[in-house]
Amino acid sequence: MKFFFSILFALIFSLNISANPFLPNEIKEFMSFYPDVKYTADYDISVFDWKIEMKADLFFDRTAKPAGEKSAVFYWADGRLLPKEELSNKDNYWVLRYKYTNTLRDPKTYTEEEIEQMKTFGSSESRKNMGGTPMFFFDWLYSAQSKIIIEEHIIRTTFLGKPTRIHERIWTPLKNVEKKIKESLLNPEVKAFLDSLKSADAYHWREIAETSRKSFHSYGIAVDVLPKKLAGRAIYWGWEKERSGDKWMLVPLEKRWMPPESVIKIFESEGFIWGGYWAIFDNMHFEYHPELIGK
Ligand SMILES: [Zn+2]
Repeated sequence: MKFFFSILFALIFSLNISANPFLPNEIKEFMSFYPDVKYTADYDISVFDWKIEMKADLFFDRTAKPAGEKSAVFYWADGRLLPKEELSNKDNYWVLRYKYTNTLRDPKTYTEEEIEQMKTFGSSESRKNMGGTPMFFFDWLYSAQSKIIIEEHIIRTTFLGKPTRIHERIWTPLKNVEKKIKESLLNPEVKAFLDSLKSADAYHWREIAETSRKSFHSYGIAVDVLPKKLAGRAIYWGWEKERSGDKWMLVPLEKRWMPPESVIKIFESEGFIWGGYWAIFDNMHFEYHPELIGK
C-alpha cells in the first residue's frame, strides 16, 4: 500500500503542482489555529509523510514591529509535528490535538477500571516513563529552547489586578479574557471570584514534577488563578494526593474550588482550556491551546 502511494505521489509531483491538492484537511485545520504561521507542505516520499515548512515573524514585544523571521521544518507524523530524526520514535508521543471535554464528570460515576487508570497516571513511576505531548512545535513557536531564549519573549504585566509574567504570544487573548471578565462584574459570582483572587501566576521556568518534560508554565502560556482561601476545598490533584492519598480522584465536585462557569467560558472563548475538566484535576489552571478548543 505504501509503495502504491509513493508511486502515486511521485507521479503527482512530477507534474509540478504547486498548491498541493492532496494536503490532508487535518493539517490545514491545525495550522488555521495559528494563522500568523505561514507554511508550505510537501509529501516526502522518503519517509511517507508530509513535510511542513513553517515561517513566522519573530517578535520580542507584541506592541512593536517584528524583529525578524524564524522558520522550522516538521513532519506531520499523524498529528505530532516531529523533526525528521524523531519519526522513528513516533509512538512515544501523543498526538497534539486530543479531545478536550469541557463538561464535569461526577467522580461517583468513575468505574473501578477508570480509578485504577487515574491512580497509575498519578503515580510517580508512570509519570516518569509514560509518553507525552511532543513539544517540538511549541518549542519553536514560543522560542522555548532555553530559559535565556524564552525570557526575551516574556512580558511583565498584570492580569485581573495581579502582577504576572506571560508570553508575548498570549498578550492579546489574555487581555481579551480580562476585558470580558471585567465586563461581567454585575454577575455576583464573577465579582466574588475577583474579590477572592490571591494571585495569577503564569510564566515559571520549571519541569513537570517527576518527569523531564516542561510544563506550559515554562512557556508562559498557562495561568494559575489562586483564591486567597481554599477553606478545605481541593484545587489540585497533586496536593489532594498528599492530603488524602490514593483516593484523590474521588473528591466530590462540591468539595473542589471552582472558578465561576462564566469565567471558564470566557477563557475558552479566547482559546484557553481549563485544567478542572481533567481527571488529573488542576482547577486553578488555564492553558492557551486554540487547537484544542477551536478558537
Ligand atoms: Zn498551572
